[in-house]
Amino acid sequence: MTAPDLLSVVVPCYNEAEVLDETIPQLTAALQAIPGIGFEIIFVDDGSRDGTLARLKQAADADERIHVMSFARNFGHQIAVTAGTDVAAGDAVVLIDADLQDPPEVIAEMVEKWREGYDVVYGTRSSRQGESAFKLATARAFYRLLNRFSEVPIPLDTGDFRLMDRRVVDCLKAMPERHRFVRGMVAWIGFDQIALPYERAERFAGTSKYPLRKMLRFATDGILAFSSRPLQFATGMGIMAASLALLGIIYALVLRIFTSVWVEGWTALMIAVLFLGGVQLLSLGIIGEYIARIHDEAKERPLYLVKSQFGARAPRASRHP
Ligand code: UDP
Ligand code: MG
Repeated sequence: MTAPDLLSVVVPCYNEAEVLDETIPQLTAALQAIPGIGFEIIFVDDGSRDGTLARLKQAADADERIHVMSFARNFGHQIAVTAGTDVAAGDAVVLIDADLQDPPEVIAEMVEKWREGYDVVYGTRSSRQGESAFKLATARAFYRLLNRFSEVPIPLDTGDFRLMDRRVVDCLKAMPERHRFVRGMVAWIGFDQIALPYERAERFAGTSKYPLRKMLRFATDGILAFSSRPLQFATGMGIMAASLALLGIIYALVLRIFTSVWVEGWTALMIAVLFLGGVQLLSLGIIGEYIARIHDEAKERPLYLVKSQFGARAPRASRHP
């Protein structure tokens, strides 16, 4: 018999002290129940300010399969997931939220699909419990908009809960970009991917760590990183404004040449000036968003900084392209 496959499970945690006492035993039990694999759990503490780190340290001391890396500050969910993936040693890596919204039992089904030969098994939410109508509606609209814009198809209603084979993980590690939208990046990578429908549970305790501000940033990152369509939109607006102006000119000339009236001045002028000003500022804003991202990339700062770590795995101090 060959050595069992090693499964690395990456769990990003930001102020999750309230859920960890439940998450750690549930996750460990679910992984133990999967036949023929060994596992490690990598908790990434994303600069939490509550008892998260202390709780994780305790867990790492008690179980040698648990590893913890703690960021110098809050770098964000997508960066935390990246850091965990960077240090994962497994033949496959699973990404899962800390709040038990992604049921740990589903990992066993993911492993089965992986053994059938799939490189990526992504969880698709067939239902979502305990989310506000606002979140459901905006998320639904976002995934559909993103898909229309993106050059590669990104699966609908799919979060980061997924299993990735080592060869996909290695591709992901070779992608240095800073504004990370992991679910899109994995779709871009390709290989053999399959959806696994699951029911997304309610958050076990605590509140969402994705306030509206973070959600908007995340959505912008997704769209700007996977599409240049907003730029074409700016071009389109420009063409439209220019065409309207041309029509206006023809109209004014015709009136002047064939009749004895002039076009009434003030209102038409104001509308034209404000419309043009609006289109220009909007276009500048869109260009600015892209330039800001080029600026961020050009600085070449490390993606994250590690403050401390517990458990056998020794993460690199930072990630640099
Ligand atoms: N998270 C993180 N850093 C952040 C925000 C969130 O590591 O800045 C983690 C969080 O602890 C959780 C996962 O990302 O494990 C998903 O966050 P959350 O459950 O709050 O998002 P929601 O399910 O409400 O979209
Ligand atoms: Mg959640």
